[in-house]
Amino acid sequence: MSEAHLVKLRGERRRPFVYIGVFLFAIAICVLVFTPVLERYFLLQTGRGQAVTLRLAVDSLRLTLDRYSRIPALIAARPAIAAFLQDPQSATLKADTEKLLSETATALGAKGVYLEDANGQILASSSSRFDDPLGAVADRFYRPYFDRVVAGGIGQYFALATTSGESGYFYATPVRSKGRIKGIVAVRFSVNQFEANLRGGASEIIVRDSNDIVFISSRDDWNLRSFTALDEDAQNVIAAARQYPLELLRDLPNRRTELERNIELFEINDGRGATGFVTSTSLIARAGWRVTILSPASEARALARLTAIGIFLFALLIAAITLLIWQRQARMRERFDEQREAKRSLEIRVEQRTQELNESNRQLVEEIEERKATEKQLRQTQTELIQAGKLAALGQMSAAISHEFNQPLAATKAYAENAVAFLDRNRDDDARSNVSRIVSMVDRMSSIAKHLRNFARRPQEKTKPVSVSSVLSSAIELMQPQLTKNGAELLFSKPPDDPWVIGGDIRLQQVVINLMRNALDAMTETAAPKIYLNVETEDETVRIVVIDDGTGLPDEVEKQVFDPFFSTKDPGQGMGLGLSISYNIIKDFGGRLSAENASGHGAKFTIELLRANSSDMKDAAE
Ligand code: ADP
Repeated sequence: MSEAHLVKLRGERRRPFVYIGVFLFAIAICVLVFTPVLERYFLLQTGRGQAVTLRLAVDSLRLTLDRYSRIPALIAARPAIAAFLQDPQSATLKADTEKLLSETATALGAKGVYLEDANGQILASSSSRFDDPLGAVADRFYRPYFDRVVAGGIGQYFALATTSGESGYFYATPVRSKGRIKGIVAVRFSVNQFEANLRGGASEIIVRDSNDIVFISSRDDWNLRSFTALDEDAQNVIAAARQYPLELLRDLPNRRTELERNIELFEINDGRGATGFVTSTSLIARAGWRVTILSPASEARALARLTAIGIFLFALLIAAITLLIWQRQARMRERFDEQREAKRSLEIRVEQRTQELNESNRQLVEEIEERKATEKQLRQTQTELIQAGKLAALGQMSAAISHEFNQPLAATKAYAENAVAFLDRNRDDDARSNVSRIVSMVDRMSSIAKHLRNFARRPQEKTKPVSVSSVLSSAIELMQPQLTKNGAELLFSKPPDDPWVIGGDIRLQQVVINLMRNALDAMTETAAPKIYLNVETEDETVRIVVIDDGTGLPDEVEKQVFDPFFSTKDPGQGMGLGLSISYNIIKDFGGRLSAENASGHGAKFTIELLRANSSDMKDAAE
């Protein structure tokens, strides 16, 4: 793969990381920006979710308040009350009234029932012993409910007994006689039970009065805490009304943010750090109270954070999947590129190879052409060589023939001239002698001519079974004078059987004589010349071996002995045709003539012939 391609690939691999980094950064920014929005959304959801609980709490409080609202009027309607108010000094009536009030309080579960005169002085109470702390001090209190009762309405009022710290709710109604207010019946109930009902829920519930002071709370530590810092006037009013013991009132530092109508976010700092609450508030207009339900904002905030994290994780997941898909595609692209590259390089290689093949093919064709040309040239050279060889042979032959004939011709000429001279001088005998020499010269020349004829025209005589013994006997007989002349000894071991061979008796005899003659020629310098003539027989062949004790065959001679016109003898002694003719004769018989050196002796010539079988003999007989 090329360097540029690799760089491009690396760049492509890095690109998705950059995109995904940017994408995640953008998501992170979005999450940071939108987390407050999400938080507000979840806070509002929490606030809206409080609606049912808030309504239940408000209803329950209203019910509790309403349940006792008619009670004072019922008590006031009792005749005993009216009678006592007629005669407040009567101890009996007072005792009866107090008994009535006590029984009523017990029956209602009220904390106290009081009868006051039109000036607010307690005349009788459910607790005659005045051990009811509120009752004990009630007569000394100026209470707003009294004013309201005197003004003609049913008074309802919340107050906290200063001595016990127990909160109580007062209901009061006037006792009228002839249109005039004679006294007031007041009933006090505890709200502790209601408070107890508020506890244990997931949310806090508080009830604040018009001064923003908490007087009912699911949390004890928030009781008598003011959500709004009390100014001096308000403190004076509270002090004058003895509504709450001022020394117990404390501010509750807080910060409020309105999320929507009636739903606020409270950051309350109760000394242990700020805590956030989602609040929903409902007003009980009749009493001027506000019931507020507070749920920890931490849950909504955690939910917002979780959602933000979730969105981010989701984005991360999408980024991871995108990255995976991207990488997968990049890998596939890469693989595709590699395959394309491999294919391309393969094509290039194939093209190169094809070119190489074409080139070598071209070279081969050239070589073939060259070889053909060389072969043609060789053939021509061979033809030329053959021609040259023929010419050389012809030259050799001409030289040999002219040499052979020149000498007897020159002698003949000399003898003829001498004969003429002798005849002129009438020396007839001398002339005759010369003429007879001429005749012998002519004989010699005709003998040479015969040799040449034999060589040139191979007799086409048919072969036939020939008796080796008879051929050898004739040859020995013919050679005997020369053997004797040369003082040579012939050692001939006659074959035990009489082998017959395929050949021609005269020609075979001629070959054997030629070999024996050559043997004698080679032994002119040998002290005791010997010729060994042996016959060796095998199943199919018969060998006639001629060995001498002569000079033997030097290497260069051995190579050429069968060549025509090859001779080492002096001119006039040999034409170099004997062995050549003999070789061809034996070849015509289907046999073989070979020459070698016999160890311890001179040359060894072997005539190898095919043994004549019975069918050959039969054919010959016919
Ligand atoms: P020529 O006898 O006329 O020379 P041949 O063909 O018969 O021709 O012989 C060829 C040559 O072979 C001879 O000149 C001689 O050198 C060699 N030769 C043949 N026979 C023998 C032998 N028995 N020993 C040594 N040399 C031989």
